[in-house]
Amino acid sequence: MPELPEATTIARDVAALAGGRRVVRAAAFDESVSNVAPGEFARRLEGETLRGTGRRGKAILLDFGSVVGIVHLVISGRVLRLEGWREPDRIHSAVLEFEGGAVLAFTRLWLGYFELYPPGEVENHRLISRLGPDPFSEEFSAAYLAEAFGGRRASVKGLLLDQSLVAGLGNIYVDEVLFAAGVHPMRRAGTLSAGEIERIHAATRRILRRATELRGTTFDSYHDAFGERGRFQEELKVFARAGLACPECGSEVVKMRVAGRGTHVCPRCQPLN
Ligand SMILES: [Zn+2]
Repeated sequence: MPELPEATTIARDVAALAGGRRVVRAAAFDESVSNVAPGEFARRLEGETLRGTGRRGKAILLDFGSVVGIVHLVISGRVLRLEGWREPDRIHSAVLEFEGGAVLAFTRLWLGYFELYPPGEVENHRLISRLGPDPFSEEFSAAYLAEAFGGRRASVKGLLLDQSLVAGLGNIYVDEVLFAAGVHPMRRAGTLSAGEIERIHAATRRILRRATELRGTTFDSYHDAFGERGRFQEELKVFARAGLACPECGSEVVKMRVAGRGTHVCPRCQPLN
């Protein structure tokens, strides 16, 4: 699933391809794609100009002035540049053609969506209204994390995955952040020291910034809008490296289940006790 670095990359790519351009044709495959019916989807977008793009958590925002597109790719969704117009189908959930010929397909939105909101109501969207601070916001400080973790018996991994605590982290980057911080994912959040929390905070920003520079992590379904692969997978230390040597200490990276998710840990660099 695209996490913060991938969503940022896609939002920037869409702006580069279509920013400042008017939508000449828009279509959604069926009722499941959006919060408005396909006919309304086309009516609201056609003739509007893409003024800019942004991101909230893992969601991509497309600012068309009178209406804002909220795109959530969830697991399988992608944004692709097409050679020319094509009618939407089960794979190509929504298709937008811009003046000058750029065509973007929002594909496989089976669990995701491309919803349309009036600009003033974006903050009330059911996903966006529940998001915690962005990792790059001023609000997301070590003191904020200490407060959020205080007294909590839940695992630190589970809390970092909680979008209402911090927005944009998913399974890949939480594993990498906790490895970089030397904190075991199963640690109860309320038992973390101030030093450990500071390391988690710093690693969160450092790793997300680096992954964004490298256009994200690519395994299978994620490619950016140009069909290119991200490159952060080359810098992963533990994620998807079970059975391989830890790059720091040489111990074997192990995979376990934490907070219901496959989790990658170096038992020596991230001791539980
Ligand atoms: Zn290690």
